[in-house]
Amino acid sequence: MKTQVEDLQNYLTDASNMPGGHAERLFVPETVDEVADVLREANEAGASVTISGARTGTVGGAVPFGGWVVSLERLNKIKSIDKAALKAVVEPGVVLADLQKAVEAEGLYYPPDPTEWSCQIGGTVATNASGARSFKYGSTREFVSALTVVLADGDVLKLGRGEVFSNADGRVELTTESGKKISAKVPTYKRPNVRKNVSGYFNETPLDAIDLFIGSEGTLGVIAEIELRLVPKPEGFFSGVVFFEKHGDLLGFVDEVKAASRGNALTDVRASANGGNALTDVRASASLVEYFDDRALSFIREKFPETPEAMAGAVYFEQETTAETEDALFEAWNEMLERHSADIDRSWFTTTDADREKLRAFRHALPVAVNEHVVRNKQRKIGTDMAVPDENFAGFLKFQKEMLDASGIDYVIFGHIGDCHLHANLLPKTDEEATRSRHIYGRFVAQSIMLGGCVSAEHGIGKLKSKYLYVAMGERYLNEMAELKKAFDPKGIFGRGNMFDAKFV
Ligand SMILES: Cc1cc2nc3c(=O)[nH]c(=O)nc-3n(C[C@H](O)[C@H](O)[C@H](O)COP(=O)(O)OP(=O)(O)OC[C@H]3O[C@@H](n4cnc5c(N)ncnc54)[C@H](O)[C@@H]3O)c2cc1C
Repeated sequence: MKTQVEDLQNYLTDASNMPGGHAERLFVPETVDEVADVLREANEAGASVTISGARTGTVGGAVPFGGWVVSLERLNKIKSIDKAALKAVVEPGVVLADLQKAVEAEGLYYPPDPTEWSCQIGGTVATNASGARSFKYGSTREFVSALTVVLADGDVLKLGRGEVFSNADGRVELTTESGKKISAKVPTYKRPNVRKNVSGYFNETPLDAIDLFIGSEGTLGVIAEIELRLVPKPEGFFSGVVFFEKHGDLLGFVDEVKAASRGNALTDVRASANGGNALTDVRASASLVEYFDDRALSFIREKFPETPEAMAGAVYFEQETTAETEDALFEAWNEMLERHSADIDRSWFTTTDADREKLRAFRHALPVAVNEHVVRNKQRKIGTDMAVPDENFAGFLKFQKEMLDASGIDYVIFGHIGDCHLHANLLPKTDEEATRSRHIYGRFVAQSIMLGGCVSAEHGIGKLKSKYLYVAMGERYLNEMAELKKAFDPKGIFGRGNMFDAKFV
């Protein structure tokens, strides 16, 4: 196991560029037993432990402020892919891109796609990452069927989905591998009625115990092995980036795509293909629906000069197809696009894997370019990650755009419009603009909460957004979260500063 301090520098920040990270020791274990040994020692010494994945997180979750860093990068084996059972077992340090490649080689598919494929599977489980395909498939949670977790004292918990649920008193009762009993009270806050939410510990009733650890942001234990559910790889894909001159047309198109995809379709295609053999119920049904505002398109044009000018925005979509449904689906999408006056001639469409990859690259280039831009300006990105209920989405977007336009601060808005979840990224150029950007961000949080939305839909709370979780939850529920943490980590060694500050633990 590596313990050198000279490598520590690489582990002191993440994609948030949060400054000030520091730590005393770095451990890079290669086995679950080594993880347990380090944790036992840390727990006895009362040293705080920051769990480090690939540090692509955007909220400072993996940024240490003192103590020890435990990096999972060498626990990086894909242990098995079982084609018949549609399952994979992986160590936490497996990089998402490697998993994607390996499962696709078997004709299988792992849908969670948090845009940045260099992240580790352990990190995506710890943040319950989602992304574009969550529109159809949900977040990482939906694909985790079993976990091995190493707790603060080195004891090991094995959790299978469907095995242990919270009881009538709202407690989960668990037994570790060494026979120790743990009883933890699940927090009682009401979850906002949004499609995506990773603000605080998951607390459905009854709660499957495994779900406590998914999205726990490095505060409850080290996720040391993961069993994932896979699905068969779709036969084909039809995807596109479609441009609109009028924003209202774009929003109308998205509404129709959502309605069609969720089954209350305005666009059932009852195609008469093959000389009258009716293909009934072939329905446009997107697996992802992503949004770019006009400013995002201008911004991305630097990297993709072919991006058309003078557009109000664009939508990136993907539709899964089969040889049988392909023609009817093209027709359905074409009709929807025409109905909402998309600029079809200047839009981009593809059915090939290579071009599909280019569209993915176009989408990925935007957050990357934003990060590069703010670093160049020696500032930090101030990015929203809120989802609001469907009925409040259009109003919330308008509210944000109007306030941002009035501010004179550069910004882009893009993201997961299918899930009513956009990222407004403010790009301050000066310290004065940075201060104003933070105020605007605070207004957006307040508005989201008022509209029944959440503070974080997918990036998590980490260290950067803990004060907003406080605003959304208040002391009572943060205390309940802290109580839950204490049941698993009595000395509070894990992820200090993540989700809630030290006064609660
Ligand atoms: C360009 C870009 C685009 C992104 N787009 C999306 C998106 O569309 N959707 C989305 O959901 N996210 C997105 N993200 C952020 C996303 O959260 C991360 O990519 C990923 O989920 C974190 O994985 P990681 O391995 O980098 O974890 P890290 O950043 O290293 O850690 C994240 C948190 O998880 C904890 N952690 C890590 N590994 C473990 C483990 N094995 N056990 C316990 N705790 C652990 C850490 O302590 C930390 O609190 C994006 C990031 C970037 C840079």
